Amino acid sequence: MSKPFNIRFSGLSLGQHKFNFNITLSDFSDDFKVEDALGLDLALEVVLVKEINLMHLNFSLGGCVLLPCDRCTNKYSQPIHFKEKILVKFSSPLVIDEKDETHYMDQNQIDIDLRPFIYEFICLAIPMKRVHEKTSDCDQESIEFIHKFADSGSGSGKDPRWNILEELN
Ligand SMILES: [Zn+2]
Repeated sequence: MSKPFNIRFSGLSLGQHKFNFNITLSDFSDDFKVEDALGLDLALEVVLVKEINLMHLNFSLGGCVLLPCDRCTNKYSQPIHFKEKILVKFSSPLVIDEKDETHYMDQNQIDIDLRPFIYEFICLAIPMKRVHEKTSDCDQESIEFIHKFADSGSGSGKDPRWNILEELN
């Protein structure tokens, strides 16, 4: 079961509040599946500043994502760091300005689900180029194997490493 990433702001006093969350892969496996991630070990700090009709959410996300290396297909640990600020305004009835970056919420809402935001941040924080930091960290046998098949232009599909490679393309 995925745990909730909600902040109940309705009872909070005006001013600054801090929240901390730990994020693992099982927390993002259902509707918000992080593509290709084999593991997640992330810490999220949210600083919420509550004002009368709005709140600021300052996110700091950091940790590691386990990903398949594009070069050798073996998994490696990709460090990620991401910071983002979000402004939430309360209005009733709900008026949403599409051009605006602000998030609008109904005045009667008592909590905010951070899951879609966290998901977006993780996806944005994962680099396009996903490889072991040093070529020497790569599995040389896998690379040789991949090159052998790439050169011959055919694969039996029997070796699981070949299947992984195909999925990446
Ligand atoms: Zn590698």
